[in-house]
Amino acid sequence: MLENLEILFSEEKLQERIKEMALEIKRDYKDEEVIFCSVLKGAIFFTVDLMKKYDGDAKIDFVRVSSYEGENSTGKINLKIPLKKENIEGKNIILVEDIVDTGRTFKYLTEYIKEFNPKSVKTCVLLDKKARRVVSFDADYVGFTIDDLFVIGYGLDYDEKYRNLPYIGYVKSN
Ligand code: 5GP
Repeated sequence: MLENLEILFSEEKLQERIKEMALEIKRDYKDEEVIFCSVLKGAIFFTVDLMKKYDGDAKIDFVRVSSYEGENSTGKINLKIPLKKENIEGKNIILVEDIVDTGRTFKYLTEYIKEFNPKSVKTCVLLDKKARRVVSFDADYVGFTIDDLFVIGYGLDYDEKYRNLPYIGYVKSN
C-alpha cells in the first residue's frame, strides 16, 4: 500500500498549521481553562501536538467511538469509551477529531456531550471532507479542507495500520 502513497500534508506542513490552530483557540479562550476531548483512536496524534503548542490552561480527556471498517463507514456509531460527567460538567470542552467525513460522529458526540452539562462545546478537526457530508455539520476549528480521498497517517488508519506515519497521504488509484 505504501508504494502507491501520495503525500498530501508533510510533517512540517501539519505542524505549522497545528501551531496556527493552537493560537486561534487561545485567542478565543484567553485565560479560561479548556478541556481537549480527543476522539480515540485517530485524533490522539493531533490532540497531543495541538496541546503541546497550546499556551494556556488545558486538560485532556478521551472518548472513543467507532464507525469505520476498512475504507467504509458502517453509518452506525458505537460508543466504546464513554465520558465521565465530573470531567465535563461546567467546563469548556473542545472535541478534537482527526477527520470529519459524513458528519455523523461529530453530530452524535456533540449531542452526547451536552447530556453532561458542559459550560461550552466547540469542535476542532484537522481534516474536513466537506463534499461527503450526510448530516449538516461545520466544525469551529478546521485544519485543512480536503477532497474526497481516503487518507492515512498521523493517526488515521487503514484497518488499524499506518497511524504512525508522521505525514498524511492517500493511496493513488492506478
Ligand atoms: P464521520 O462520522 O464524519 O463519517 O467519520 C468520522 C470518522 O471516520 C473519522 O474519525 C475517521 O475515523 C473515519 N474516516 C473518515 N474518513 C477517513 C479517511 O479518509 N481515512 C481514514 N483513515 N479514516 C476516515
